[in-house]
Amino acid sequence: MSTPDLASYEHIIVACSFGKDSLASTLHLLECGVPPERIEWWHHLVDDGADIFDWPHVTDYGRQLAAALCVTLYFSARQGGIVREMLREDAPTAPVWFEAPEGRVTVGGRGPRNTRRRFPQVSANLSVRWCSPYAKIMVADTVLRNQARFQNSRTLFITGERAEESSNRARYASFEPHRSDLRDGRVRRHVDHWRPVHAWDEAQVWDCLRRHGVIAPLPYRLGFGRLSCLTCIFMSADQAATLRYMDPARFARLMAWEREFGCTIRRDRDLPALAATGEVFAPVLARPDLVRRALSPRWRGPVLCAPSRWQMPTGAFGENAGPV
Ligand code: SF4
Repeated sequence: MSTPDLASYEHIIVACSFGKDSLASTLHLLECGVPPERIEWWHHLVDDGADIFDWPHVTDYGRQLAAALCVTLYFSARQGGIVREMLREDAPTAPVWFEAPEGRVTVGGRGPRNTRRRFPQVSANLSVRWCSPYAKIMVADTVLRNQARFQNSRTLFITGERAEESSNRARYASFEPHRSDLRDGRVRRHVDHWRPVHAWDEAQVWDCLRRHGVIAPLPYRLGFGRLSCLTCIFMSADQAATLRYMDPARFARLMAWEREFGCTIRRDRDLPALAATGEVFAPVLARPDLVRRALSPRWRGPVLCAPSRWQMPTGAFGENAGPV
């Protein structure tokens, strides 16, 4: 699928993690002539205040980048984030809250009572790797299904998966009806799902950020190849060693949960065993100032620069550990 008719949509939404691929998807829209004020960024807060999975600086960094690019930013989350779902015991899955033009809305939370008490498991199967659906995919579905502004209108929902990332992602369609689409229903909610960078390689993604002077987000400058959760269940041995070095308290909480649940994140070894076989990323050792900024909830620093001054981050073209 080439570029859809962008002018035919009333709403253009980018599911934005603030990682390079969702940023490149947004910048590509600008290059296609979409005015920034027509673009909505939807960022799902995977922690919703729990401060375990997400990079602490990312929320504030995203606010500042949205302001600099003049796009509208809406936050949403499953209440309590991944941690509340992980610790769920004889309780329904938590409601979803989201920001909308008229204010904050909360829906759901009346499902069957159940017990989880285990980490999401490393798998391409979303029913066991439940963090992505519960904290992101189903949250977006809820936001789309619960706003009258998406009824009797056309919406383009954009995500940044690329075929190069994994064989699983290579099978994704670049254009298809979205899960929440109801174009033939009574409310005529037309929602298309477009993956504009699906066929791009990593060099194209970075070059797009360079053209727009978007400084690479901090995790890439610390050596990480992807901006996933800081404590992503797919973490490599090097990422585990790096996490233990730069945030031992967070690492200790994960270890305690592995012991408490009697079930490790990986089937073959626990977190200390994983970290023991890895090396701390060199920029993390060399730049304690950047580590402090990455672990701070306040973003201090520029988000844009002149394209001539743009620098490729150390983590570019590195390991690809992250959701498959
Ligand atoms: S980045 Fe990793 S931990 Fe976070 S939601 Fe995705 S798969 Fe789960």
